[in-house]
Amino acid sequence: MAFAFQRKKIVILGGGCGGVVAATHLGRKLGADHDVILVDRRAEHIFMPAFLFIMLGERQPRDISRSLRLLEKRNVKIIQSEILGIDPVRREVSLEREKINYDYLIVSLGLQTRPDLVPGFAESSQHPWEIESAVRLHDTLASFNGGRVVVGVPLGPYRCPPAPYEAQWMLDGYFRQRGIRERVEIDYFTREAEPIGEAHDPTVWMDAESKRRGIKQNYEFVVRSIDPERKVVQGLYNYRIPYDLLVMVPPHRPAQVLLDSGLADTETGIRVD
Ligand SMILES: Cc1cc2nc3c(=O)[nH]c(=O)nc-3n(C[C@H](O)[C@H](O)[C@H](O)COP(=O)(O)OP(=O)(O)OC[C@H]3O[C@@H](n4cnc5c(N)ncnc54)[C@H](O)[C@@H]3O)c2cc1C
Repeated sequence: MAFAFQRKKIVILGGGCGGVVAATHLGRKLGADHDVILVDRRAEHIFMPAFLFIMLGERQPRDISRSLRLLEKRNVKIIQSEILGIDPVRREVSLEREKINYDYLIVSLGLQTRPDLVPGFAESSQHPWEIESAVRLHDTLASFNGGRVVVGVPLGPYRCPPAPYEAQWMLDGYFRQRGIRERVEIDYFTREAEPIGEAHDPTVWMDAESKRRGIKQNYEFVVRSIDPERKVVQGLYNYRIPYDLLVMVPPHRPAQVLLDSGLADTETGIRVD
């Protein structure tokens, strides 16, 4: 029986870390014979782990951004558009100007930040979990000459669980480098009972490292709201942490289109088997 070659359409949603890696490999292996299409609302890939270096002014946004069109040389077609809907039954994705169908769909839409989920958050916290906010935080740090800096974590999922630990240590190093560490008190709070991590015995090491740097660790602190006028983080059971500069991770949730399409039905995203 003759082999009937069928051209397939592979659609990748999201040009973040996951989408770019998938597109690079699939484009290289299959792009000449099949359609590999990547869709993102942004024209550029932004490398999020470097947001911490933007916070310190060691990188600029242009250093950590690359045009997604560079993937065209790997036979990947790029569509810049908001993804408005996903219909897994019809195998169809709705974009701003068109609908595209697919044979295979890769969803890599990450998490969206939801500052609205903690009352007072938007007015209070400056943080490196979005690029624009990381730039603003850098400007604030440049004119910060002393006081209480509070780094913290809300309930729910967020991008990169160890990053808040890195953030507090990097801030410690930044203030030491500027020669003002003795004028800055750093506090950390988390809902966890102890630090989380995956390397050998990291919980002991992360806790010890934070204390070695003189950073007070507040475990099992669950944020309820933030009072921007009094500059206080309000926790469960009336625990409070005052701050001069709040660097709190925003709450995160799955991309809205995944919730709307029913593909994600947990607060962390799509259930996988
Ligand atoms: C400060 C910080 C430090 C980090 N450090 C590390 C680290 O050291 N090591 C590590 O492994 N990870 C780290 N991470 C986590 C890492 O960046 C993420 O895990 C990774 O980016 C997730 O990749 P993703 O492709 O799933 O999603 P994302 O990178 O979030 O990409 C999702 C893409 O989908 C697009 N998108 C979403 N919704 C829509 C829509 N409706 N329409 C169109 N486009 C849409 C977005 O524009 C985005 O480009 C860090 C993250 C942060 C914030």
